[in-house]
Amino acid sequence: MYLRHILRAQLVATLSAHPSRLHRVCRAERPLCTKSDQVRLAHEASKKYGSPAPTIFNKVIDKSIAADVIYEDEKCLAFRDINPQAPIHFLVIPKVPIPRMSEVKDDDAELLGHLLVVAKNVAKQESLHKGYRLVINDGKHGAQSVYHLHIHVLGGRQMTWPPG
Ligand code: AMP
Repeated sequence: MYLRHILRAQLVATLSAHPSRLHRVCRAERPLCTKSDQVRLAHEASKKYGSPAPTIFNKVIDKSIAADVIYEDEKCLAFRDINPQAPIHFLVIPKVPIPRMSEVKDDDAELLGHLLVVAKNVAKQESLHKGYRLVINDGKHGAQSVYHLHIHVLGGRQMTWPPG
């Protein structure tokens, strides 16, 4: 188990340093961790929730770590998920650090609308003509592992229901 974590950390570090390899791995849709790993990560993240430390997505925004960015404007960024759950899996995030959906304020309505429109435009850019799924995980029960609001956009295969 411990060795698996070290190997995963090394792989993530290598992929962050080489976005083109990251893109190839994303396209191959080979999960870097299992579903239960994701839930465990989310539970660990929920314990640290509220810490002033910047999240990994702050580092993507300020470009201190590499990401496969496929869209950017003054309000938001879209980049490929490092652990894709579908042939196309990207995230749309605001540049302002809203930690989670349940902390959205009424004043954020315009920004949230913008994120949805960007998700739709980038899905079109990614040729997801047969449809796609948008997901926002919130908190521990929602299995949120990064406390910077993000919309998952998943497509390129048939989705099933209900989600796990
Ligand atoms: P959630 O579990 O809803 O909080 O989703 C967080 C997502 O961020 C997961 O799907 C991770 O695979 C993804 N992720 C974490 N770090 C990175 C990164 N450096 N670049 C791209 N995606 C990432």
